[in-house]
Amino acid sequence: MTDCLFCKIVNDEVKASIVYRDEQVTAFRDIHPVAPTHILIIPNRHIESVNQLQVEDEPLIGHMFLVGRQIAAQENIHQSGYRIIVNTGSHGGQTVFHMHLHLIGGQRMRHPIG
Ligand code: 5GP
Ligand code: ZN
Repeated sequence: MTDCLFCKIVNDEVKASIVYRDEQVTAFRDIHPVAPTHILIIPNRHIESVNQLQVEDEPLIGHMFLVGRQIAAQENIHQSGYRIIVNTGSHGGQTVFHMHLHLIGGQRMRHPIG
């Protein structure tokens, strides 16, 4: 997608603080962090939201979670704990329509979400 901000980050057309990348996913620090660690994990291929996922994407989604766990360990928040959130659509609070996991931690999360 030529006009997608996150596709541009994957393609290095927009700068981001990238913390991890492989052939399937890219992870970078959120520009407006809500906690000491706030990292976005996105598929390199444009997928608009959870609503556009296909059955073939199941391994990709599993990979995104394992990358999230690995980055949590890298950030040293895997023992203290963290949240992984996927906002979907308008009521879900999604503002960038290239699917992403938010990995958030480094402080105690407020509860409840929603
Ligand atoms: P959403 O609201 O769609 O779940 O999350 C989008 C996230 O992308 C927000 O937390 C927002 O701060 C972040 N974001 C928006 N634009 C940029 C950008 O240009 N660079 C980075 N690194 N993060 C961005
Ligand atoms: Zn995209």
